Amino acid sequence: MTATSGKTTCPYCGVGCGVTVTLPDPQTGLVPPVSGDAEHPANFGRLCVKGSSLAQTLVSDDRLLTPMIHGKEASWDTATQQIADKITQVVKDHGPDAFAFYLSGQILTEDYYVANKLAKGFIGTANVDTNSRLCMASAVVGYKRAFGSDTVPCNYEDLESCDLLIMVGSNAAWTHPILYQRIAAEKKRRPTMKIVVIDPRETATCDIADLHLAITPGSDAAVYSFLLNYSAQANLVDGDYIAAHTEGFEQALAQAAVSTPTLKAAADFCGLEQQALMTLVDWWCDTPKTVSFYSQGINQSATGVDKCNAIINCHLATGRIGKVGAGPFSITGQPNAMGGREVGGLANQLAAHMDFATPGATELVQRFWQAPNMATQNGLKAVDLFQAMEAGNVKVVWIMSTNPMVSLPDTAQVRRALGLCELVIVSDCKAHTDTTAMADILLPATGWSEKDGTVTNSERRISRQRGLLPAPGEAKHDWWAICEVAKRMGFQSGFSYRSAHEVFVEHAALSAFENNGKRDFDIGHFSRMTAKEYDDLVPVQWPVPKGRPEGTKRMFEDGRFFTPNGRARFIAITPTLPQNQACLEWPFVLNTGRVRDQWHTMTRTGDAALLSNHTAQPYSEIHPKDAKRLGIEDKSLVRLTSPQGSVLLKAKISRAVAPGQLFAPIHWTQQFANASVVSTLIPQVVDPLSGQPESKHTRVQLQPM
Ligand code: SF4
Repeated sequence: MTATSGKTTCPYCGVGCGVTVTLPDPQTGLVPPVSGDAEHPANFGRLCVKGSSLAQTLVSDDRLLTPMIHGKEASWDTATQQIADKITQVVKDHGPDAFAFYLSGQILTEDYYVANKLAKGFIGTANVDTNSRLCMASAVVGYKRAFGSDTVPCNYEDLESCDLLIMVGSNAAWTHPILYQRIAAEKKRRPTMKIVVIDPRETATCDIADLHLAITPGSDAAVYSFLLNYSAQANLVDGDYIAAHTEGFEQALAQAAVSTPTLKAAADFCGLEQQALMTLVDWWCDTPKTVSFYSQGINQSATGVDKCNAIINCHLATGRIGKVGAGPFSITGQPNAMGGREVGGLANQLAAHMDFATPGATELVQRFWQAPNMATQNGLKAVDLFQAMEAGNVKVVWIMSTNPMVSLPDTAQVRRALGLCELVIVSDCKAHTDTTAMADILLPATGWSEKDGTVTNSERRISRQRGLLPAPGEAKHDWWAICEVAKRMGFQSGFSYRSAHEVFVEHAALSAFENNGKRDFDIGHFSRMTAKEYDDLVPVQWPVPKGRPEGTKRMFEDGRFFTPNGRARFIAITPTLPQNQACLEWPFVLNTGRVRDQWHTMTRTGDAALLSNHTAQPYSEIHPKDAKRLGIEDKSLVRLTSPQGSVLLKAKISRAVAPGQLFAPIHWTQQFANASVVSTLIPQVVDPLSGQPESKHTRVQLQPM
């Protein structure tokens, strides 16, 4: 490391790779290509093509450089005063729940903390939700049901030390490339390691799989239900572990025995050959060191929470948790979805991994914050929140660093909802997105390499994102903008932070406040951290309680969980297929996901020409039989129609999808491809427990153009 370079973290996926940035040439102002941080434990110097193209995204003609009010430039003073006045007025006239934040897994933990504090402690509403609801909300609820806390047990090394890796609902080769590369390297080094991919689609991840189970869309839970049932029948469950550390096994097993009584029943439910499913069962039975690695294919489902618990049940039953190379391991999509979870940045959380339902927690947080208007109950989750806007119940929304006009299901409803709000505030780096077009007030935000704070990746590792480059124009940090509004609302004392460091140490102090190891998320060790120590922070895995500054590599090694009695809970699961099955009128099932080289709605990756070379246009994968039957040529234009809307995409004839199934990536916006916003098609069907939309399963019509 030299004085002309600095270390930070990639802003894209939940792998959270370390990045080294060489500072701009003072003569030209150009930033040289970035490189991987060889010392960062997530990537050890590797970067995928998105990460290595970051320097190309730093210069944009479309940066938002000054606050705008109804399309006219304004000062920060005027903009923040207008926001403060309007929030104050709607809260007075309609109550605190007339206001909402809609945040993002892209913002930093410090931004999340301040937004959460303002809404839940000072305005008095828990309407603080985030695009992380679209990403990992089901995994959160699954963990809380099983462990009593939202705690990821495993770490990345477990992916390299297991003997059987079951990748279910994950195309890691494209969505978490560096993890995939680590797994692929280990598979090459140790060919006896078995890899199973469970996915309706034959993705790039299947390239390293010993077995691909192309299940019927949405049937994942039945695979694990049968694994549980068979493990018990074969006397392979760990009776000692179950007796010592869990509860509810008998009920969960009884339900699994009813739901998936035989190999044939399970295979039929999942649309698999019995032999293929039995191969997985045999490997499962023979391999104590097994990791189940799961992502959006599990979470983005109307039964996503049950799917998570079906997976966790099997690991508890066989004692495959809290051990090297064993455990259920959900992978978050976004760089800081985990950091948001830590501070309570979801509508059904309070703060610092506490819930409103946790006895004494609301009072504890109120004492710590000295909060004048403490929220007392859950707020509205993302889809409900936008429905409440349309119903006129939420009148002011502050959207931060996300593009819900493209990413939320049923974009027509999102447009109606934002159109009916009395004030829409959008904080963003970019001037023109589908969502900034709906804003009354735009606030210019700092972006990657300018922002300063922390993120937490999928293995609970807290890393610094550092402000290495100056903010352009009048761009400001999100936490600063929130504080300016808070102070103008009369909340001077709680929002006088001068730096991200001051926010972070308060966040750490809250996690330790009256804690004494009682709660799972503890970074209290950091509460006395100096600015220099914060700046020099090396990546560390939480919990980081007092006396354990090195952090915690793996959770639940002692078999104690965060439930009141310390036992993990089995959850009885009934595997259920998605409600909106294909039918005569809507004969195809649409699956959605990502392409290798784009990120979310392309607001950053769309600036890097190199990244568009891989996939230049939005498309739909169509099986050759369906294409032939409908007279669809490869690369021709097709129309996909659902009850919610209609989009135009390029046909990609491919055997990766089964007949009757389609796949389309999520990235393209109205800016990039008119009439190709895929989430326009997706209905607002959500998991009733997590509120996560079922973005992986929409019934549609397909027509040639
Ligand atoms: Fe960035 Fe994810 Fe690629 Fe790592 S794997 S460089 S975090 S996009």
